[in-house]
Amino acid sequence: MIQTHIQDIDLTQLPPNTKQTGWIDVAPRPDGNTWRLPFLYVTGNKPGPLLVVTSGVHGDEYEGIEAIPDIFHQTDPQTLSGTLFMIPVCNVPAFETITRSSPIDGLNLARVFPGDATGSITPRIAHLIATKILPKADFYIDLHSGGIMYDIPTLAGYIHAENELGRKSFAGAQAFGAPILWGHPFPPAPGRTLSSAVDLGVPCIYTETTGGGLARANDVACFRNGVCNVMKWLGMLKSAPQGMPLTHHLLGSGNLDQAIQAPVAGYFKPEVTLLDDVQKGQQLGTIRDLFGKILSELHANTDGVIIMLRRLHCVRVGDGLAHITKYHPE
Ligand SMILES: [Zn+2]
Repeated sequence: MIQTHIQDIDLTQLPPNTKQTGWIDVAPRPDGNTWRLPFLYVTGNKPGPLLVVTSGVHGDEYEGIEAIPDIFHQTDPQTLSGTLFMIPVCNVPAFETITRSSPIDGLNLARVFPGDATGSITPRIAHLIATKILPKADFYIDLHSGGIMYDIPTLAGYIHAENELGRKSFAGAQAFGAPILWGHPFPPAPGRTLSSAVDLGVPCIYTETTGGGLARANDVACFRNGVCNVMKWLGMLKSAPQGMPLTHHLLGSGNLDQAIQAPVAGYFKPEVTLLDDVQKGQQLGTIRDLFGKILSELHANTDGVIIMLRRLHCVRVGDGLAHITKYHPE
């Protein structure tokens, strides 16, 4: 297979019955090279839906980055209807520096969508994805994880809305087959890949898993199977989706910018673990100084379930430490 390097891409004009990898130009670099986005696609020998999958929107989240080439290699054009188009690393500069945000302009790619064609590198990446990749998609999956900083369980997040887009998002999340479903009220927080997809009318989900700089085999397998399950649900592959048993169905803001923040800097010692049920006011942990003196006690701001904890112990003022969400009222 010859890799292609292209300046522009039209997902409606991809040749059928093909597997292809390559690069799309984003912006010039000062040294005369080019920032480029890697892509992998498989087109079936029969027409069908266009499924777009991205990962590496944050540069330190590896599970999706590992799963995407696996999915590419196991997908056969002969048994596929439609097109699977995947970008394994969206924030290429952040991937290189092993950071959540871009080292070039300091921006979080998941806060600048739909981007800006004349902006710095991060909004330019967002603009390319929002204008060239997402608009023609029949369904979109954005694979995330806790990255180096956060601990978060394996889940599929969907748009909780009483409309066609919300119904498809929920059904797609169910088909993905992660052990936890997490619905988010409409509209999603702005600047995200999902808010951009929703603005374009594209039903979508995102996923989270362990992170920590790891790509654990079970987590990668969940993502690999999950994407294939969504292809089965969309009718792109013949068999029926086979997900993992559901353990939690949660509902609440997925905006981790609104997590309980560190009021002081120091050493964070949590006293709860992921998926613990907590009561409003319950102590979640402490921040100490380097001599062990407690500087701050952190308390739950609401009843609910611990869905995110800061993994790193060193905290600065304002760092997000924990996020609590609710059970879905079924
Ligand atoms: Zn992420």
